[in-house]
Amino acid sequence: MIDLEKPVAELLDSTHGKPKLLVVDDQAINIQVMYRCFAGDYQVFMATNGEQALSLCKSNPPDLILLDVVMPGLDGFEVCKRLKADAATSHIPVIFVTAHTDPAQETHGLSLGAVDFIAKPVNPDVVRARVKTHLTLKFQSDLLRKLVFLDGLTGVFNRRYFDQQMAVEWSRAARNNTPLSLILLDVDFFKFFNDRYGHQAGDDALRVVAAALKSCLRRPADLVARYGGEEFACVLPETSYEDALTIADELERNVRALAIEHQNSTVAPVITISLGLATRIGNTHNDVQDLIGLADRQLYLAKHSGRGHVCSAVLTPAT
Ligand code: GH3
Ligand code: MG
Ligand code: MG
Repeated sequence: MIDLEKPVAELLDSTHGKPKLLVVDDQAINIQVMYRCFAGDYQVFMATNGEQALSLCKSNPPDLILLDVVMPGLDGFEVCKRLKADAATSHIPVIFVTAHTDPAQETHGLSLGAVDFIAKPVNPDVVRARVKTHLTLKFQSDLLRKLVFLDGLTGVFNRRYFDQQMAVEWSRAARNNTPLSLILLDVDFFKFFNDRYGHQAGDDALRVVAAALKSCLRRPADLVARYGGEEFACVLPETSYEDALTIADELERNVRALAIEHQNSTVAPVITISLGLATRIGNTHNDVQDLIGLADRQLYLAKHSGRGHVCSAVLTPAT
């Protein structure tokens, strides 16, 4: 359960450390005022024009933006419009800070997706209080968004996130002509494990296996998801067939090395997994389902050739 009453400081601490604020204003004096307001409790980043603000939001997304309206070049309204149009930045709350506070301007700013509108000169206590309120809401919605994509039992990503990310990574691989590897894996004779050790022990084993899988993946873009009951998926973007095969072998060894007793398995006296690897290389005319299908067929082959090992294939247009 998420405690929506949790004090903001605790929420911020547990998820982020010091929250990041971006102050955008073409006047150095206004930036200094804001800096003095926030430097104690926040990491404050600064931009003196719209273009700089947009590029900072891409490279180091802040948790909230204090945005001047009137600036040469891209004005605040245009910056807000662009941030809201981009999925990567649309969730960052924007507060307009402006000397022009007529209701029409304010309505326009809010209609562009800003969460608040503050008049200059700012009162430090008021601006601090409003920022805190909006950050609390932002972190709560971040948390909810994250929970929607996590598997409740194991804490790794769930099937919904897997489906979404596979589509994203497939498009990226096609666009950039980079390899994409997918490993599907399944715990061997897990029904017999439950029968012998009980469902609770089965749940515990799945948690431990998931953590072991996660610890094998090193790149930020790699992900582990629970694909179904005792089946997991590892998505490895920009990973060659050879490198993915090395990782798949390591996953197999690491799960075996957990040494979770499984006397009802004919593979080994411990829990083992079977794995199917498929890699997309170069330009193919296939789609993402073909890659998933190929990985699934490799997993099936591994299951029918002794279990506890990897079967693998490269996806080609002919496959
Ligand atoms: P195989 O080696 O062919 O994969 O055999 P298996 O017994 O693992 O495969 P099968 O598909 O027959 O059974 C899967 C078992 O996994 C049955 C199901 O109860 C168990 N399982 C699936 N999800 C969970 C879970 O969340 N917790 C527990 N404890 N067991 C689960
Ligand atoms: Mg199984
Ligand atoms: Mg299964």
